[in-house]
Amino acid sequence: MTQAETAKRQAKESNTRKRIMSGMRPTGRLHIGHYLGVLTNWVQFQSDYESFFSIVDWHALTTKYMQTENIQQDVFEVALDWLSVGIDPEVATIYVQSGVPEIAELHLLLSMITKQNWVEREPTLKDMIRMLAQDEKEAQDRCTYGLIGYPVLMSADILAFKGELIPVGKDQESHLEFARDLARRFNSIYKVDYFPEPKPRFTETPLLKGVDGQKMGKSYGNDIKIADTEEDTKKQVKKMITDRTRIAKSDPGHTDLCEVPWPYYNIFAKASTEQVKDECESAKIGCVDCKMRLADHINDYFRPVRERRRELAEDPRRVMEILEAGNLKARETAKQTLSDVREIMGLTNWKRQ
Ligand code: SF4
Repeated sequence: MTQAETAKRQAKESNTRKRIMSGMRPTGRLHIGHYLGVLTNWVQFQSDYESFFSIVDWHALTTKYMQTENIQQDVFEVALDWLSVGIDPEVATIYVQSGVPEIAELHLLLSMITKQNWVEREPTLKDMIRMLAQDEKEAQDRCTYGLIGYPVLMSADILAFKGELIPVGKDQESHLEFARDLARRFNSIYKVDYFPEPKPRFTETPLLKGVDGQKMGKSYGNDIKIADTEEDTKKQVKKMITDRTRIAKSDPGHTDLCEVPWPYYNIFAKASTEQVKDECESAKIGCVDCKMRLADHINDYFRPVRERRRELAEDPRRVMEILEAGNLKARETAKQTLSDVREIMGLTNWKRQ
């Protein structure tokens, strides 16, 4: 049985498997830091858990409600990246948040039981406003009702699917606290044991620096994207900061002081690290040549992914159909949750589409 067949069989047995839920804002083309830190984990999770992966476009509006012109294209680019790295829509449920209106209704219902001071004390809210606004006036403009309520929306994202496990890095556990508190409060107010408290599923996130040695980020121009061409990749790798103490090619290099290429070698070309170390430390290779060799390794690594991505990009209708089908699949689960929640909260379950 192939790996895909095994994963599909496991997906059918989903009622015995724990449910995992995760989402990503549509920020456009993803970089290789996203690939290593998030997507490779998701590819593994889809075999191990019943998986719900969401492109959370409403969350994009909480901070970018004035710049919406690229949202649709950004959703498409994220979907292309997910599909090309091996997230399988026949195994995992891949959907777009705004295609599942039940999440919005659950957000509304949960907001009724959310205490005002819970959202106001949310530490990440202050950080977000600080990042978005230059001064007090701008802060007032950016701090909308939707932004303040984003932890409730995030909780609705999770609870609509009764997500039991949420992938987080070791330092991000606090991000889950809000959803856990809200699940607990709902169960306590209505004296039910309905929502599971979502638990963290810790993930290892290898720290991949940008080519300038700083944190990798699209807005810093220091990233390598999954979708980059081989030429783009070479250009970026050429900019990588190496061993700052190595001035001339004839100087021996130090792999332990090599800021970017050496850690990349350890991820993308582990088999050649011994040779690189020897050639670097005995000055048999210069940094420029060494980086070009690294670029070839990165390009080899991503070639099949990029090929799949190119094919998918040429067939946008197919990608949209995959997302539509994912939305419908996600709605089936979310509708059931909503129906239960309405009943628990004493509302009538009116007929709906
Ligand atoms: Fe880094 Fe390679 Fe230069 Fe050595 S030769 S410092 S490993 S880029």
